[in-house]
Amino acid sequence: MVVDLDAIAANTALLVERAAPAAVMAVVKADAYGHGLVPAARAALAGGATWLGVAQLGEALALRAAGVDARVLCWLWVPGEDVAAAVAAGVDLSASSAQAVEVLADAARAAGRPVRLHLEAETGMGRGGAAPQDWPEAVRAALAAREQGLAELVGTWSHLARADEPGHPSLLLQREAFEQALAVAAELGAAFALRHLANSAALLTDPGTRYDLVRPGIAVYGLSPGEGVGSSEQLGLRPAMALRTRLALVKDVDAGQGVSYGHTYTTERPTRLGLVPLGYADGVPRAASGTGPVAVAGGMTAVAGRVCMDQFVVDLGGLPGAARAAAGDVVELFGSGALGGPTAEDWARASGTIGYEVVARVSARLPRRYTGTAGVPRSDPATDDGQHTGHETSEQGGPGL
Ligand SMILES: *Cc1c(COP(=O)(O)O)cnc(C)c1O
Repeated sequence: MVVDLDAIAANTALLVERAAPAAVMAVVKADAYGHGLVPAARAALAGGATWLGVAQLGEALALRAAGVDARVLCWLWVPGEDVAAAVAAGVDLSASSAQAVEVLADAARAAGRPVRLHLEAETGMGRGGAAPQDWPEAVRAALAAREQGLAELVGTWSHLARADEPGHPSLLLQREAFEQALAVAAELGAAFALRHLANSAALLTDPGTRYDLVRPGIAVYGLSPGEGVGSSEQLGLRPAMALRTRLALVKDVDAGQGVSYGHTYTTERPTRLGLVPLGYADGVPRAASGTGPVAVAGGMTAVAGRVCMDQFVVDLGGLPGAARAAAGDVVELFGSGALGGPTAEDWARASGTIGYEVVARVSARLPRRYTGTAGVPRSDPATDDGQHTGHETSEQGGPGL
């Protein structure tokens, strides 16, 4: 798997320009949507993001351990986790209830420094966030923590359920509910410095949701948040991840050859089959059996039969380069889409999911290679973390390219 760091920086720069004067928090949860937490975070910062967003405490701490000292917000933790370590590391933390604020206040006491607090309001997503009836109590808990020197009131925020459907009435309703939560907090005397609501889709389509800070994730990696928002190309985004490998075997078979588990594909005429050494354990969706697009042998075909754990088959018959195809030939599952190649969005359509899931599930088993130089520390032994060089490097093994 190859990740283009310059694409991440360029996408971020586009989002920074679009969001201004709001600041940009690049969301790097889930190993930066499969692109690699630290290199992707550094590339997004090089592109002009000033904040990073993560779901889990471990992700925030991994950024700090790598020496990333930008503002980091972590919004999903559970009581019993080592929240104090995150407070000590200067990570901003979210709370969705008075009880959660109290856990953070205790952590601040243990860490010996105030927690930088963001309160999440339920505005219609029906997921995290304090419901309207619980919001005043959460705000009061935040005020009490501040009075004791245990919290800084940094942000009030919420999340949109249907931003990928531009113009959907729920967007306005959520904004009204958010304004209401802000008004209640203000009435209670809580002055949070930052308001944030927008994800990629909202940032790109609904200026009224931008407030002081926006939280794009998928667009940073060059994918569209959804068909209603437009394709990556229409949005001016460059998909940063490419998934390529090499054929492990090419062989001739007769007509009537059943292919892969369950024989859901049978050759109609004598043909050549190519064996692709990637499977669902590598993140190739099994739901793309029979449908996932593949560029190989000078043309495009689809997965033939079922995707297995480590491999799948393509029928090379009829492809321009079929006669010359050989083990070792490059196979592209998805990439930037330039020159008409398949994209992660095509794989999403082929397997009934979203581009987010296609890239986020590319497995850690596949070696990663980085191209581009955005955010790459100079080869100064004091700063080089050894994770990547920013140049094409040969891989330590495994079938990914
Ligand atoms: C994942 C996430 C985002 C980013 O959403 P995208 O659709 O990828 O832009 C923003 N905010 C929160 C709270 C999230 O969980």
